[in-house]
Amino acid sequence: MTIPDDNRRLEEIDKRYIWHPFTQMKDWLDEKPIVIAEGRDCFLKDIYGRWYLDGVSSIWVNVFGHKKKAIDRAIKRQLGKVAHSTLLGLSNVPAINLAEKLVQTVGKSLQKSEVRNQKSEIKTKNSKQKTQKSNPPSHPFAKGGMGGLCKVFYSDNGSTAVEIALKMAFQYWKHTGVKGRNTFISLSNAYHGDTIGAVSVGGIDMFHEAFGPLLFKTYRTPSPYCYRCELGRRYPDCRIACLGKMESILKAHAHKIAALIIEPLMQGAGGMIASPPAYLKGTRDLCHKYNILMIADEVATGFGRTGKMFACEHEDVVPDFLCLSKGITGGYMPLAATLTTEEVYHAFLGEFKDVKTFFHGHSYTGNPLACAAALACLDLFEKERILEGLSGKIALLEAWLKDTSLLKHVGDVRNAGLMAGVELVRNKRTKEPYDWKEKMGWQVARHAREKGVLIRPLGNVIVIMPPLSISEQNLEQLLKVIKESITDATEGRK
Ligand code: PMP
Repeated sequence: MTIPDDNRRLEEIDKRYIWHPFTQMKDWLDEKPIVIAEGRDCFLKDIYGRWYLDGVSSIWVNVFGHKKKAIDRAIKRQLGKVAHSTLLGLSNVPAINLAEKLVQTVGKSLQKSEVRNQKSEIKTKNSKQKTQKSNPPSHPFAKGGMGGLCKVFYSDNGSTAVEIALKMAFQYWKHTGVKGRNTFISLSNAYHGDTIGAVSVGGIDMFHEAFGPLLFKTYRTPSPYCYRCELGRRYPDCRIACLGKMESILKAHAHKIAALIIEPLMQGAGGMIASPPAYLKGTRDLCHKYNILMIADEVATGFGRTGKMFACEHEDVVPDFLCLSKGITGGYMPLAATLTTEEVYHAFLGEFKDVKTFFHGHSYTGNPLACAAALACLDLFEKERILEGLSGKIALLEAWLKDTSLLKHVGDVRNAGLMAGVELVRNKRTKEPYDWKEKMGWQVARHAREKGVLIRPLGNVIVIMPPLSISEQNLEQLLKVIKESITDATEGRK
């Protein structure tokens, strides 16, 4: 048992040595930190023994709750064998088993979706040179069957999963003899991670503008942010005019674009911006029409968050790249995977001297402990029928959102499954936002914390993203506290 003096020491040492991510350290130094010592189910306990409801799944990663026996066991079992060995020039048992399971899971999820004819879809018809392709192997998942995403490239976080997709997409065109495809198209308000490539395709000025001189240029298409439409239109009368804008960019510039990157259904860190129905499918159709690759960044939306295993499934979309991380290990271990098609993989095959090798890899790529955890998670999805159990909770959340939208300072509410955002405004009629310096989101989070709930806002947007395993009772408690905290902070009730 930790004695209080030890607790104070931990707090001091934290402030002396740790530089926290996405945190103004001056504020951190002025505040009493919460130091987590333990977790169970949807709760985290601090060093003083106080329990908190984990309202954002420990930054969107936790799926089955903390200290989940099956995942604990899988990691311990693997620890009894080997903790780590490299995938550079070697393979390992959990990485192999997981790759197969991921391809099957993605295939099952997307099999109802369009099944692309690998040979005709990503055409190199614009190329002056003809593509040299050997025949793909007759693997059961090759040639686009079962969703078409049949090659798994591991890394260890969401940003690297995205970097890999960007680099592969760029090099795919080089290897197929198509010149000039040196950039990407991405969305306003997009967030794809913090490495420089991922930041280049990001669209959140507050996070990304400072690095401008370091970034490569991309084409930017409007965010499907209906509440604050960049084009000044209104949904549904607009008939999704932002897709029209995307098309005009592609019409003019597709020959310079390697791929489009998108967070399917929900732009997360940009403020929980849910795209209107048919936007994702429309985007996919435009990628086909203008012959560019599509990267679906499902780092946040993947593994059940939106009510289906992958968000792409909602609109029958199969991308050329699927970036996965966060929930892949249920929030236990750093792991990511970039899935792609036989077509892309094949473009990189050649003689050693052809220099078609994908020169990319991280030290912990395919880490056996992380892969063992991920395998246990995919088992849990099946055994505990996690997705089947979500509809009641989603209905509960949606009813609460509707009710909460009536509050004086709630401008908009949005969700996709159990991923939700509540946008606070100073003036509901004019949609005038709170000045970001007021930190209204943080004020709400502080009230919630005092009531035993941990949430982390995105500017004026309150994020709600509990572990999928949360009970209806705990979800009700989480929502009750958040609503009270919004009222406390925005209407000055103490
Ligand atoms: N893509 C998306 C859609 C994300 O939400 C995030 C993280 N919030 C990332 C990429 C980056 O993931 P990581 O923080 O693991 O690098």
